[in-house]
Amino acid sequence: MSTDTSNCIFCRIIHNQAPAKIVYQDPLVTAFNDIHPVAPVHILIVPKKHISSINEIQPEDEQLIGHLFTVAKVIAAQLKIADSGYRCIINTGPDSGQAVFHLHLHLIGGQRVRFPMG
Ligand code: 5GP
Ligand code: ZN
Repeated sequence: MSTDTSNCIFCRIIHNQAPAKIVYQDPLVTAFNDIHPVAPVHILIVPKKHISSINEIQPEDEQLIGHLFTVAKVIAAQLKIADSGYRCIINTGPDSGQAVFHLHLHLIGGQRVRFPMG
């Protein structure tokens, strides 16, 4: 998988070189609204480090990957969907439909999610 990040749309968003509605930032991650939301809340939580997919996670990334879920919890609480619930998805590779090869956690909620799981 390519490690050239200059053509990576999520790296460009992280470095303010492409527009996005950013909803959360900290030193490790950026989170922004998905450009094609499938529910009232559809946020992508993205590590600032370019990791192409789960397949490229290294042992030293474990804390960072765990942090994605802590951020999901924080954003869900901020948007008041913690109790109504939400779905977290990470697609990996062709069979999943992964379209952007910079690892990202989809946080989807605000309505009963309808789309099939497989
Ligand atoms: P994947 O299928 O790779 O898990 O999901 C990629 C997601 O990124 C899709 O839901 C798609 O709508 C979103 N996306 C693709 N390009 C952009 C973009 O330029 N800006 C934003 N905000 N979302 C994008
Ligand atoms: Zn990237």
